[in-house]
Amino acid sequence: MAHLYDEDRGIARFFNVIDGEKRSARTNDWLDSINPATARTWAVIPAAGASDIDEAVSAAYRAFRGPWRKMPAMQRAGLLRKIGDLIATHADELALIETQDNGKLLSETSAGDLPAVTQMFHYWAGAADKLHGETVDISPASLNYIRREPIGVVGIVIPWNSPLSIFTAKVGAALAAGNTVVVKPAETASCSVLAVAQLFAKAGFPPGVVNVVAGLGTTAGDALAGHPDVGKITLTGSTATARAITRRSADAIKPLSFELGGKSANIVFADADLDAAAIGTTTMAVFTGAAGQSCIAGSRILVQSSIYDEMVSRISTIAKSIRVGDPLDKATGMGPIALDRQFDKVRSYIELGRSEGGEVLFGGRSGASLFDDGSPFAKGYFVEPTLFAGLSNQARTSREEIFGPVACIMPFDDEDEALAIANDSPYGLACGLWTNNLKRAHRMAACVDVGAVWVNTYRRMHWALPFGGTKDSGYGRDSGLESLEGYMKGKAVWIDLT
Ligand code: NAD
Repeated sequence: MAHLYDEDRGIARFFNVIDGEKRSARTNDWLDSINPATARTWAVIPAAGASDIDEAVSAAYRAFRGPWRKMPAMQRAGLLRKIGDLIATHADELALIETQDNGKLLSETSAGDLPAVTQMFHYWAGAADKLHGETVDISPASLNYIRREPIGVVGIVIPWNSPLSIFTAKVGAALAAGNTVVVKPAETASCSVLAVAQLFAKAGFPPGVVNVVAGLGTTAGDALAGHPDVGKITLTGSTATARAITRRSADAIKPLSFELGGKSANIVFADADLDAAAIGTTTMAVFTGAAGQSCIAGSRILVQSSIYDEMVSRISTIAKSIRVGDPLDKATGMGPIALDRQFDKVRSYIELGRSEGGEVLFGGRSGASLFDDGSPFAKGYFVEPTLFAGLSNQARTSREEIFGPVACIMPFDDEDEALAIANDSPYGLACGLWTNNLKRAHRMAACVDVGAVWVNTYRRMHWALPFGGTKDSGYGRDSGLESLEGYMKGKAVWIDLT
């Protein structure tokens, strides 16, 4: 099977997909894509600007007014099922592209993300022909009904940690609701999304329905956010970017939805299964295959005082056994940080934690010190699992999103204190609860101010469940039928019967 990219002297070359065609940026500028495990350029992607975004939005607008709008819902559903199937036939290559691009373990991208991408498109195929309007009985003198219509062109901006999964959650729902899309992936991990974009034409989607344009956030992303013909912007990314997009789109008064960062509490009560909780607060939650670069990372571990020492010991044993290294190797437990800027940021937070008086219980090392001399990974962006004790919940290290394998552990005495600490955060994305007390689990689940709660498990996701946050973690929901509402608008119709 031919690759989903061109190759030029050992470097992969990916293209934008605009109006069903592979295109370079109009300026023919390119950005390097760095493999974070080796710090070497492995691919180049277009450095698109405002004129490329304008072409993509025009194509999406034409497709929306033309073939896509006119296509019966069942046929749209068929295309969504077909793209899911087609992605399955390219799953191995796409998983490898994503791992080389952002360092997430191949075991995670191939066994987790790619199968989920196919299933998500199938899920949205199932929804596409089941969208109904409503009639509303106001009076015998009129017939009133509500049409649920697509918005038009949806602008989708995504981050680098799980590009294909996040792309699919948003694109699947937007297309099922009848919109066309222009997607701007992260400049540091665009390759898997540029690769998959080529498959939509092969699946039979009309040109212009799905456009993917790679470039910097401050140029291509900014142009998309401000484009007058884009009917809605949805972002998964940082709170700072959400603020920039809000300002940029203010004149056009666009609907926005934001899935942003987190600083989630993972709370262990003394009555929990401590074996399960030790896994659930380490490899499941923050010292993961994505190296803690997960918006839902359980980076504040709260432990009831009576079991604090026991949990510290169990967590340390597990964390020290995690093998950090080559993301392509099945035996690896944690890969690199996805990009140099983020690598520097994570290391600066380790320094900050120390300067705030935190005690490093384990970890703290990064880069070449983790590898033998001459290792191909010595220049890679690796940080070992790191745990701070002795920091209050007011410390910056406990409050700000680090987005790496760095967590804080804090004791609490009772349920009220655990809840107060959990909710005392600028973020409100997720929370883990480890307890065998059913009543406590339900009480706490009701009172934590977040969008997702896990009881005796962590970091589980499913496309049928809505996902999103509160406070600085954003608003709006991805996934689940609830998210379709964000891609449609209601229209009230009056017919006089007198
Ligand atoms: P980021 O905000 O820096 O970038 C996200 C996207 O926004 C990129 O495509 C970027 O190019 C674009 N962008 C940047 N500036 C822009 C601007 N001014 N206008 C328009 N677009 C712009 O985020 P990141 O560093 O790529 O990703 C990490 C962040 O994403 C973390 O905060 C993480 O928690 C969050 N995240 C959230 C979820 C979730 O579902 N809640 C999932 C994954 C990641």
